[in-house]
Amino acid sequence: MADDKKGPGFGSAFTPHMLVQHYKDGVWAKAEIQPFGPFTLSPATVVFHYGQEIFEGFKAYRQPDGSISLFRPDRNLARLNASAARLCMPQVDTAAVLSDICRLIKTERECVPPRPYTLYIRPCMIGTDTVIKVHPSPTCIFFVITCVVGDYFAGQDPRGVRLRTETEYVRAAPGGTGAAKCGGNYAASLAAQGQATVEGFDQVVFLDARERKYIEELGGMNIMFLIDDILLTPALTGGSILPGVTRESLLQLVRRQGRKVEERDIAVDELLAANKAGRLKEVFACGTAAVVTPIREIVHGNAMLYRNTSDRPGELTVQLRQQLMDIQFGTAPDPFGWRYPVPL
Ligand SMILES: *Cc1c(COP(=O)(O)O)cnc(C)c1O
Repeated sequence: MADDKKGPGFGSAFTPHMLVQHYKDGVWAKAEIQPFGPFTLSPATVVFHYGQEIFEGFKAYRQPDGSISLFRPDRNLARLNASAARLCMPQVDTAAVLSDICRLIKTERECVPPRPYTLYIRPCMIGTDTVIKVHPSPTCIFFVITCVVGDYFAGQDPRGVRLRTETEYVRAAPGGTGAAKCGGNYAASLAAQGQATVEGFDQVVFLDARERKYIEELGGMNIMFLIDDILLTPALTGGSILPGVTRESLLQLVRRQGRKVEERDIAVDELLAANKAGRLKEVFACGTAAVVTPIREIVHGNAMLYRNTSDRPGELTVQLRQQLMDIQFGTAPDPFGWRYPVPL
């Protein structure tokens, strides 16, 4: 490990190798496995000035028999290409990239930790032309780094995180880049996040850009609500919400269990009313990094939008987190064929 002094926190214990692939003259060169280390880039490089950058995030899971599996990497690579299209970057050959990533994981196989730790895989593509002019870069670097990760919210209250709605800043707008996984969206979320942290919240819930009336998502996670016996999550149709693989997987799991699911616009007012009536039972966030994260409180202005008054997270929240992790770590059947064994 490049940094194993503090044990695996999130995002700093990089493994010794990385995958690097260059794009030029309309073609991708062969992907190379190299020692993890810095790039030398001109200060005029496009990514520094105009933010032409996209990324992905998924994990490798140590299985009970010692083998290693990925979780739905095809969904991440399809999303990588969707993000690339949105930012005018070249498409990758998803089958070739998957096999290259497996080669990287095989190289780093000793670094794949036992459950509940995982090897986080971070593909990234940057525009590398060196002209100070706004244009789609004709050259790119695609690279993949990996790091050992533990719990994203380690050391938090077990009932989960405390949030507030964000009524001033927005993360993404209709027609913008909200559905693409690009660094610029994160840069845009920092001011809201910073302000909320000062106020003692863990994260913010972003609202729609037009009216600030509808729930969108957190800075890096999707959000779900249990009202009565219906699991609700914002629909993706507006194009400003990131289509999470965890979100999609949980919806499939829950539907298979015969539970009612609704993907639609969710107004803050609807949640306030449901909470007042005692019908808002559970709220959680979901994403690869933190899997399923219970939310213990959401504040909206002067109003309490949701509060978990018990001493533990909701039943469905706990159950879904467990079910998803059991599939990922190979201790439960895989009815949807989500596990992708890494050839070792
Ligand atoms: C990555 C991300 C998610 C979660 O996506 P997963 O595929 O489940 O990891 C949700 N929201 C945003 C803004 C993200 O960047």
